[in-house]
Amino acid sequence: AALLNPRYQFDNFVTGPGNQFAYAAAQAVAERPAKAYNPLFVYGGVGLGKTHLMHAIGHQAKLRYPQYSISYISGEKFTNEMINMVRYEKMSTFRDKFRTVDILLIDDIQFLAGKERTQEEFFHTFNALHESNKQVVIASDRPPKELNDFEERLRSRFEWGLVVDVQPPDLETKVAILQRKAEAEQTTLPTDVALFIAGNVRTNVRELEGALTRLIAWCSMHGVEITLPTAQMCLKQFIDTQVRKITIEAIQRAVAEQFGMRVAELKQKNNSRQIVVPRQIAMYLAKQMTEASLPEIGRQFGGKHHTTVMHSIAKIDEQKRHDKDLARTLSKLQEILG
Ligand code: ADP
Ligand code: MG
Repeated sequence: AALLNPRYQFDNFVTGPGNQFAYAAAQAVAERPAKAYNPLFVYGGVGLGKTHLMHAIGHQAKLRYPQYSISYISGEKFTNEMINMVRYEKMSTFRDKFRTVDILLIDDIQFLAGKERTQEEFFHTFNALHESNKQVVIASDRPPKELNDFEERLRSRFEWGLVVDVQPPDLETKVAILQRKAEAEQTTLPTDVALFIAGNVRTNVRELEGALTRLIAWCSMHGVEITLPTAQMCLKQFIDTQVRKITIEAIQRAVAEQFGMRVAELKQKNNSRQIVVPRQIAMYLAKQMTEASLPEIGRQFGGKHHTTVMHSIAKIDEQKRHDKDLARTLSKLQEILG
């Protein structure tokens, strides 16, 4: 399990309509572990504060209950640790480690999609903790129902306690986040600049922070004040590329995330259905949303022949006509990609 990031606290988490319910639930869990909501399941898009909230729960609970053992781990790390323990025949060590904590914070659970053995292990961990009245907090990029390639018994357990979502911040919340962050950097951020950034960077808080960091660095390097014209100039490129340019890489990232897999898997020579369908979808979107030619798309998917690309695109095009789930997935991805 990883250490908690000291920067992720409740008191520097800015709340707004999109996240205040999740925030309140997280606080309740930190104050009364295993008594308020168990498990607490938080889901939402990338960069919207899920990890921040999980760490904040850890910090706050540690303050309230210093004797508690609190463990934070990502789905990916959980998987890797389990694989290692299996390899070295140390499963009992692994089990003890996770079944003796008072609070387990497990992040990015979608990573366990399709990993049967890891899910099985997590299922037992979950049961052991829940039965002995220990708190489990789970973060995911999507709600339990949409966790494809998950065992039903796990999905249903995820809904035993409270399921909350985090939605993208509205303009006011974005401005408040920027002001708070500027304050932390001991910088004053004029309101018009904050509004400019908030209005032009889309929904992701991490990107919002990135824009501000860039602006602060740029101004300090050039020894100038932070003003609107400066911000417009310095962030032009940042904002332009973010709004307009959709790359095959961006598509691959979005698709991989949507299906809880890694980008590398989209490029492998693996023809299991679990991988083929997301790959076909990614190719389809690459054709639709970029200028890339078929051979170019093939190259970016691990060197596929252009006829394979063509076939994939045709397949999705045909299937989306009668497959509502697929149609929905496609439009969701298109929306994410802008
Ligand atoms: P997620 O886990 O949902 O992808 P993170 O928790 O990693 O997102 O958040 C991305 C960045 O944005 C972090 O630096 C986090 O501190 C910051 N952040 C997100 N939401 C907020 C918020 N409401 N207030 C302050 N900072 C936030
Ligand atoms: Mg996260």
